[in-house]
Amino acid sequence: MIIEFENGRASTVEQIRDLAARFGLTIDVTQRAGVYSTIHVIGDTREFATREGYIRDLPGVRATWRVTSDFKNIARVVTGADGKAVRRDRRPVVVRGLDGKDRRFGGGKHIFIVGPDSPQTLEQTLAIARGARKLGEELGVVDRVMLRGGAFKPRTRPTDWRGLGMKGIAMLDRAREDTGLPYVTEVMDLNLVAEIGEHADMLQIGTRNAQNFDLLETVGRFGKPVILKRGFGNEVTEWFHAAEYIANQGDLDIVMCERGVKTLFTKGGYCRNQPDLNAITYARAQTILPVIFDPSHAAGDHRIVPENVLAACAHLCDGTITETIHDEVFRKDQLCDGGQALLMDHYRIVMEAVLAFEEHVAPKLVAMAEMFEGR
Ligand code: PEP
Ligand code: MN
Repeated sequence: MIIEFENGRASTVEQIRDLAARFGLTIDVTQRAGVYSTIHVIGDTREFATREGYIRDLPGVRATWRVTSDFKNIARVVTGADGKAVRRDRRPVVVRGLDGKDRRFGGGKHIFIVGPDSPQTLEQTLAIARGARKLGEELGVVDRVMLRGGAFKPRTRPTDWRGLGMKGIAMLDRAREDTGLPYVTEVMDLNLVAEIGEHADMLQIGTRNAQNFDLLETVGRFGKPVILKRGFGNEVTEWFHAAEYIANQGDLDIVMCERGVKTLFTKGGYCRNQPDLNAITYARAQTILPVIFDPSHAAGDHRIVPENVLAACAHLCDGTITETIHDEVFRKDQLCDGGQALLMDHYRIVMEAVLAFEEHVAPKLVAMAEMFEGR
């Protein structure tokens, strides 16, 4: 539901926020210059809509209407039954570190998520985390650096190593305490969302669970920021609907992540998955959510990870999530995704390249994207 209201009516906005919360919903306010702004009520509003008459009578409310367009929670442009359309602002997702700094996805600056495929030893996890902190400080972007690491691993073969579970989470906790950097970790089981979510700063839904609807809803109800990978066999619209499952529970803190899709053309072995970079542009244009890219699972080979990062920058991604290794010697000991892990020393060069791109090239692309608004 969209509510149009007169600017300066703070108490009306708060009343609507409170009412929405009673129905397990949240609100997203699009503040506009001029006389009126809009509130978008996020979640399943069918019951809430019975209060439409009450809302219309609140001071300063000018109109209310139900959204009829698809992707009603996450769409950039939402349309009502009479064709009335509201264009919403893109909405940043913020993850705060123990260091007190906010990582703002979709705030116009690249967010660098870096870390192992999975924590295997404390030494390895701390070495990468400390390296990431140091890099961030040296390049003046520590407020844009985050950690990653999967403790619960989805594996194709049941006998493959499947992560350290809560012991791995404890290692990530230690890395956060040591460095102040927040971390994201994958959750596969809806029964573990609360337990893992108590620890992690951000949850990840992996490609294999991108259409695990019960999991999506449980994560949405938990309310922590979430990275939603695109299912490797999913159409972009299926990915958007997956995000709607989370948003429909009132959680809009969703970061979309393109990570490559399976096609016939990857069978030749030159990459692991086909990076669908146009999907980044499309998701940025069609939704209000930040969109990041995973160059590691697209590439499958650390030697082509840097190109993949830079290619995604050209599509104005809001960040990247890259698997790294602290020491070349460890590669043979890494139990999952060793071949695609970028050495931290190489990651430094990638970071420098991204920052140079951001300074010298991105502004021109941003200006062009604005020319093609609604593309
Ligand atoms: C991962 O991030 O380690 C991972 C398993 O990713 P994906 O779900 O994209 O394969
Ligand atoms: Mn991996």
